[in-house]
Amino acid sequence: MASLSVKEQERIIDILTNWRFKIRGTRSWPSAQVTAGGVDTREINQDTMESKLVKGLFFAGEIIDIDGQCGGFNLQWAWSSGFIAGQNAAL
Ligand SMILES: Cc1cc2nc3c(=O)[nH]c(=O)nc-3n(C[C@H](O)[C@H](O)[C@H](O)COP(=O)(O)OP(=O)(O)OC[C@H]3O[C@@H](n4cnc5c(N)ncnc54)[C@H](O)[C@@H]3O)c2cc1C
Repeated sequence: MASLSVKEQERIIDILTNWRFKIRGTRSWPSAQVTAGGVDTREINQDTMESKLVKGLFFAGEIIDIDGQCGGFNLQWAWSSGFIAGQNAAL
């Protein structure tokens, strides 16, 4: 770094902290990691994950109209909602 000019140092810092990408498209269905859409959350009891329309029917995970960005949010949602649904289905 000491051998670089201030301008060169600033350029490196800019690349490392302000690297912008232009999204040109998606890799389509075969590479998809999560799907949007599904059972309307308004039709589910959020405390039990039971359907408000069909008694004894419980939902969890991606079948519900909830989707997150990549980074573990969808798996966490599947596990957490599955835990709640399972506990209440067993009552
Ligand atoms: C390639 C890929 C990478 C991903 N990476 C990440 C990630 O890094 N982080 C993250 O948070 N999320 C990630 N996800 C998303 C995450 O895996 C899903 O959101 C999550 O697994 C959904 O869990 P689920 O139990 O709701 O559904 P699923 O995991 O899809 O489970 C549904 C199960 O039901 C079974 N099934 C379907 N129909 C029937 C039937 N008629 N009878 C009996 N069984 C049936 C299926 O075989 C399947 O085992 C990724 C997804 C993909 C495809």
